[in-house]
Amino acid sequence: MRRYVIAGNWKMNKTLEEGHSLIQDIKNMYTTGPDIIICPPFTHLESTAKAIKGTAIKLGAQNMSEHNSGALTGEISADMLVSVGVQYVILGHSERRAIFHETNTTINLKVKQAIAHDLSPILCVGETLEQRVANDTFSCVEAQVKEGLLGISKESLLDQNVILAYEPVWAIGTGKVASPQQAQAVHAHIRRTLTDLYDSDLAQTLRIQYGGSVKPDNAKELFGQTDIDGALVGGACLDALSFAGIINA
Ligand code: PEP
Repeated sequence: MRRYVIAGNWKMNKTLEEGHSLIQDIKNMYTTGPDIIICPPFTHLESTAKAIKGTAIKLGAQNMSEHNSGALTGEISADMLVSVGVQYVILGHSERRAIFHETNTTINLKVKQAIAHDLSPILCVGETLEQRVANDTFSCVEAQVKEGLLGISKESLLDQNVILAYEPVWAIGTGKVASPQQAQAVHAHIRRTLTDLYDSDLAQTLRIQYGGSVKPDNAKELFGQTDIDGALVGGACLDALSFAGIINA
């Protein structure tokens, strides 16, 4: 049985004070249910770790360097994240791929770096609108999964509870959610890809979140699909009520 997991990606939103108040609201609303991961900006990680101490809420970062340390101005290492209590890290988000030119090769190095430092990656994959229209959704997502996980053993993926997130780029922040059937078809294809790469035991164990304009009113139907194990939420996680609505779904 895979446990549902809901992650909130704050992106570059909320001052420290605003973030603190959002965390307090989420804490007040959250009782029990799916696994919850909060991914605030780097500057908020340490205070968020303190604020969620003693709760079941987990802490995630939104990105990380593939390098250990050194002259890399502006970068944040895996060790730094671990030192402030981070357990998860979003890697390969479509905004990192599109705006910051991250390739599958770089993302693969980051996934390996995270695992080597005891962090659990949330590896994001997803097609653009052009790729969907050209009928390239499956091949795009398959390549991102294969190249993102290249050289990583089944044991590492299981030990580190690696999560995959299917996020169609055309659905992120656009209000255009993939239909439950569209999302389910790609999630099932990701499991087929994992079965080919590893085996069906691994494919049935790893959790695959859907991301792209998830809201309280569309979450339930998405979560009702066989291969959808929760959500990676952007916009709707910035408001405690709508995040709680998704958690309750
Ligand atoms: C995201 O950025 O990962 C995301 C899914 O954003 P939104 O929920 O706003 O579409």
